[in-house]
Amino acid sequence: MQITEKPGIVTFTRNVFIPLTNACRNRCHYCGFRSDNPSLMTSAEVSKLLSKAINATEALFTFGEKPDEVEGVSEKLKSMGFRSFIDYLLHMNALAIEHGKLPHTNAGVLGYEEMKRLKGFNASMGLMLEQAVELECHENSPGKKPEERIRSIINAGKLQIPFTTGILVGIGENLYEDLYSLDVISELHSNYGHIQECIIQNFKPKKGTVMENTPPPSAETMLKIVREARKILPQEVEIQIPPNLVDDISPFIKAGAGDIGGISDTTIDYINPEAPWPEIEKIERCLKGEYFLKERLAVYPRFIKVGWYGKHTGHLIEQLADENGYRKNGYVSGKGVNEC
Ligand code: SF4
Repeated sequence: MQITEKPGIVTFTRNVFIPLTNACRNRCHYCGFRSDNPSLMTSAEVSKLLSKAINATEALFTFGEKPDEVEGVSEKLKSMGFRSFIDYLLHMNALAIEHGKLPHTNAGVLGYEEMKRLKGFNASMGLMLEQAVELECHENSPGKKPEERIRSIINAGKLQIPFTTGILVGIGENLYEDLYSLDVISELHSNYGHIQECIIQNFKPKKGTVMENTPPPSAETMLKIVREARKILPQEVEIQIPPNLVDDISPFIKAGAGDIGGISDTTIDYINPEAPWPEIEKIERCLKGEYFLKERLAVYPRFIKVGWYGKHTGHLIEQLADENGYRKNGYVSGKGVNEC
């Protein structure tokens, strides 16, 4: 498969973040998202968010892992008319499609059959590998066992699901382990060809968590990892840096990143609520006219060309994509300005 993205272009999507539930079977030491008293969004709440997100093309479903293993969640789902969490999730994915948004679901580890059901209703899916080694911060998180996560990413590969994964930096691993984790992602892509992007995300301490006093990785460390990642990963796997988690995106682009992920003008980053999305125009100023922003969809152009998206999303992709697989009439910068 050939690279289709042009050098000098930094891509992004406009999304709406839908945090279906903060019920999670894991207890990661750095997490400020999960709750012991979890909530579950209703169809009406999801519809309201989808309706508000006029500019978005992507519905990002991110939530805790295997929520129905958490006490009380199955009963709540039944009272809402759903036999399982996957049935509920499929219903919400379909709702997003009805509202003209392409679902991208991050559901944590999933079995092959669960992923197969979700594939039809998703343009792409994701699961952070985080780290391919066992770490203390995951001692109470069965879903963070590296072999479990690798198995899920393999399942996605077997099912030809365009996939987002990545590493979380600064959670107790060392540099060697960061690079090893990138090697693992590279090998997964070599075997299945399905990784569209690899997020390199810096840990941010959250108040009230076990790791609230753990220092986050420095910008220098992150830059070093991005440079190494660009050497380790196949060129067609884009490197993504979340722009709300770094002060200035520009050095990361120079170091080899080429995507800044989803940005929302409707919803916050519920995983990092203290970090607002920068405005697109501010990001463009940071790029100083050396790189240009281009709006894509939740599925990368090369996967649109080979038809790897879910079958229920095909009609929407036809409406939303231009002839090159980017968003039709989407944002394209071109006027370099000088202030960051
Ligand atoms: S980080 Fe994700 S998997 Fe870990 S406890 Fe929080 S919601 Fe669950």
